[in-house]
Amino acid sequence: MILTTGPASHDPARDVPELAPYARTTVRLHPRRGVPGARDSHLGGPLWWPAAEPWPVCAGHRDVNGRPSGPYPLVAVAQLTAADFPEIRFPDRTDLVQLLWCTDWHDQPHPEGWGQACRLFWRRADDVTDPLGDQPDPGEDEDMVPRACVLHPERLTEYPWHEELPPGLADRHEAWLAEHGLDDDVSTIPGCKLGGSMRWGVTDLPGSMECGECRAPLELFLQLDTYEYDMAAEDRFRPLQERGLDPRSEAGRAAREPTGMTVGRGGHAGLYVCGADPRHPASLFTQ
Ligand SMILES: [Zn+2]
Ligand SMILES: [Zn+2]
Repeated sequence: MILTTGPASHDPARDVPELAPYARTTVRLHPRRGVPGARDSHLGGPLWWPAAEPWPVCAGHRDVNGRPSGPYPLVAVAQLTAADFPEIRFPDRTDLVQLLWCTDWHDQPHPEGWGQACRLFWRRADDVTDPLGDQPDPGEDEDMVPRACVLHPERLTEYPWHEELPPGLADRHEAWLAEHGLDDDVSTIPGCKLGGSMRWGVTDLPGSMECGECRAPLELFLQLDTYEYDMAAEDRFRPLQERGLDPRSEAGRAAREPTGMTVGRGGHAGLYVCGADPRHPASLFTQ
């Protein structure tokens, strides 16, 4: 299956040329419910995990009397391969990255982070010769347990969130749009995606986005979103192949909310990793 985003309303590189240097590529993942293989790229579902390696747990929980409770198994959120996503800067001798989190909110490595406690595992797929058969069952009804989804990656050009642009440039883009009666459908693309730029409409962009370990800039690695697109029929981000689906029907809901997660209060979250070494602790920022 191929899923295709609609055409953009305009081309900023032509219409507001000073935006051209800020164009970047993001990869819409287009997750859709399915049965992914354990070695494939996917959200939710089975990870390519060595049977001999203990499944990671969250030990950061206390009962009402302050005594440690748990530990609770982390939940498989995403697995991405170098073959599918050459744009990921894999550390040497790795070609598979796995994201797991605790479904509860915890402190983040970055002081302004907000959301689930995340762990990234970088490994080489061929090193896993004896994969784990059954991973711990996270249950189905948790808000932050993604349904198993296969991916249909699509690369798109995107422009950054306005606070990441030089002063005044976003206003000039906005003025050009107003003059032509158009909406901005090229900045901060919604839905689950790899790389690019996230909307910071709830908290604004934190003043400093640096790795706590080495001070290198943090970069958006993965955006997870409650919704892939709006209810509006004309929304550019509803794939052309799904324009005939009623978003209120069961199939329409499954396409628009494929992971079944409610991120934050129905918004999105971005997992940011260190631009110098992606093995440094990553932070989740929920909007
Ligand atoms: Zn926890
Ligand atoms: Zn770092």
